[in-house]
This record gives sequence, structure tokens and C-alpha cells, in this order.
Amino acid sequence: MAGASVKVAVRVRPFNSRETSRDAKCVIQMQGNSTCISNPKQPKNEGKSFTFDYSYWSHTTAEDERFASQRQVYKDIGEEMLLHAFEGYNVCIFAYGQTGAGKSYTMMGRQEEGQEGIIPQLCEDLFKRTVGNTDPDLSFSVEVSYMEIYCERVRDLLNPKSKGTLRVREHPIMGPYVEDLSKLAVTGYNDIQDLMDCGNKARTVAATNMNETSSRSHAVFTIVFTQKRRDQLTSLDTEKVSKVSLVDLAGSERADSSGAKGLRLKEGANINKSLTTLGKVISALAEMQNSKKRKSDFIPYRDSVLTWLLKENLGGNSRTAMIAALSPADINYEETLSTLRYADRAK
Ligand code: ADP
Repeated sequence: MAGASVKVAVRVRPFNSRETSRDAKCVIQMQGNSTCISNPKQPKNEGKSFTFDYSYWSHTTAEDERFASQRQVYKDIGEEMLLHAFEGYNVCIFAYGQTGAGKSYTMMGRQEEGQEGIIPQLCEDLFKRTVGNTDPDLSFSVEVSYMEIYCERVRDLLNPKSKGTLRVREHPIMGPYVEDLSKLAVTGYNDIQDLMDCGNKARTVAATNMNETSSRSHAVFTIVFTQKRRDQLTSLDTEKVSKVSLVDLAGSERADSSGAKGLRLKEGANINKSLTTLGKVISALAEMQNSKKRKSDFIPYRDSVLTWLLKENLGGNSRTAMIAALSPADINYEETLSTLRYADRAK
């Protein structure tokens, strides 16, 4: 079942101004779908090589023939996942990596022509395809929710006035869900864009020593997409419901590297726990699919709120993709290597 395993991509961004001003060296090389990282302390040694479904070179400018644009990343990963959703699968796309490595840029992008990330491109494409539908027996509805998981607690980003955290419950058939989370019906791309803008403003950002706007929470944007088909003879409707979860994970840097204490340390421990659990869940699922075993021994969904809530998007009738964002700079070598190892385990 080659098509069923987790799709894994890595992407390396340009130097940021801090790296440029420190005269940083690029430690990443890519060729085809392989990525090589060299240790700046051992420049003579051969680097470590990894192979992924995609290795995206976004380090240099568009004139470079290797350059991977936002459009290309969407075409390869976003569109494939959207087509699976039309087939009735639940799908999930994660962005993983150290703070500042390019997760939000890949998922959200910037509101400039050609700079939109996977989420806006996927939403636009979804509506283009539904509007273009000419089958009179087929109708569509789209609902979205947007939440943040911070220190194992869930906040509704589409209703920031809702004080406190929401309860996670389990429905006997539909699986885990968040009680009272806003689910808003949308009829076009503009509706979604407005909601996302409000949600993004509401996101918890706390400064750490790493980066002033470092994101310590996971942001989960979910599109529930229903295709209803009317049978002309019986006038009965059948529904195909797909859940598309698009996840911008909290920064994967280890707590100790940002000099964390008190609350920061607790945040770090929670982030590590959910990212480690996510890694375990994904590799257990990948192993299960690769070895064609029908049942795995045990998949630890319940070990973190993130994996518990994404249970229906990860296992069973679902398709998953992960994009690991990489810093090119020698100063981030250790973190980047650990990101590559994490991505490698997900294959
Ligand atoms: P993260 O979400 O992982 O913390 P960001 O996506 O915010 O990181 O990226 C940090 C900075 O680098 C942002 O200014 C972003 O626009 C820029 N950046 C990241 N990836 C790219 C890329 N592929 N091309 C151009 N700029 C990028």
C-alpha cells in the first residue's frame, strides 16, 4: 500500500536577517528527494543523508532551478490531500520544526500574490472545485473550526471571548471531539480568510529567549467537508463526510535550549510530550501500513490531547502528510538534525 503511508517532506528556507548578519553558513544540501546535513564542527566529514518523498529547496531565489515555490508545495502535498478528501478520506497535514524554521510560512504564508501557504490555497481550491461542479444531484457544505492546544488545553480561536478551556470528550461513533467548539458554516473562500485572520490574532504567543514571537501552542484548523448525493429514483440522500485538519505545530526546540524556567519549562514539557507522542503515533501507523499488518499492537493516541483529537485523522480511513521546516544555518545544526531525524522516523 505504497500510497497509504505517511507522506513526508522537508523544506529549507532562506537565511533570516539574524543569520545573514552573523555570516551564517548553509549546512543543508538537497538533490532530488534527498537531503544532506553537514556538521559545521566537522566540515571535512561526509554529512548525514536522508531521503523523503520531497526535499524542497526554498533557500535561494526563484531564479534557481531547484527553487520550490509555495505553489509547488501546494501542488504536491495540498492538492493530493484535497483529492483524498473528495474521495471521502479524512486528511491531515502537519508542519513540524523549530520556531522560525518556516512552519507558518508553509501552512499560512503571507497575504501577497504567490506567497499564500497550503491552507489558503487548499481552501481556494476546494471552493473552486465545488463551484465548478455540474452534477445536479451532488451538493456540498463546508464548516470550519480553529483551535489552539496550549499546555494540553484547548482554546477556541473562532470565539476568543469564550473564557477558559474547552472539554475534550469522546463520541461513541465519531470519536474524540471538543465540546462547544465553534463550527462555522462557510460558503466561499473569503469567509474562511476572514475567520482565519481573526483566529490568528487570537493565538497565544509568548516570548522566549529564542524568538520574541515564538509559538508555544499547536494551531489546528479543521475543515469538515460534506458531499451529499441525491438518488433520483429513491430521492434518498447519501453523505460523504471528510475532515481536513491542517496543523501548525508548536516549535520543536528543546526547552533547555531557550533557557526556560517556570511556566516556560512547563510549556516545553507539554510541547515535547505532544510532539513525541505524535511522532510515535505516526511511526506506529507508518509501520503498520508498510508491513501491511491490519492491526498494530498499540497506538498511543491518548497520550496527548493533540493526538487524541486527531485520532480520526491519523488512523483508519485517513491520509497524512508532514512537512518538516528546516533552518539552513550552521548555528541551528543540532535542532535541524533532530528535525530531520523526527521526519525520518515518520516515513
Ligand atoms: P515558524 O512558523 O516555524 O516559527 P515562520 O514561518 O514564521 O516560522 O518563518 C520565520 C520567517 O522566515 C518568516 O519571516 C517567514 O516569512 C520566513 N520564511 C520561512 N520560510 C520561508 C520560505 N520558504 N521562503 C521565504 N521566507 C520564508
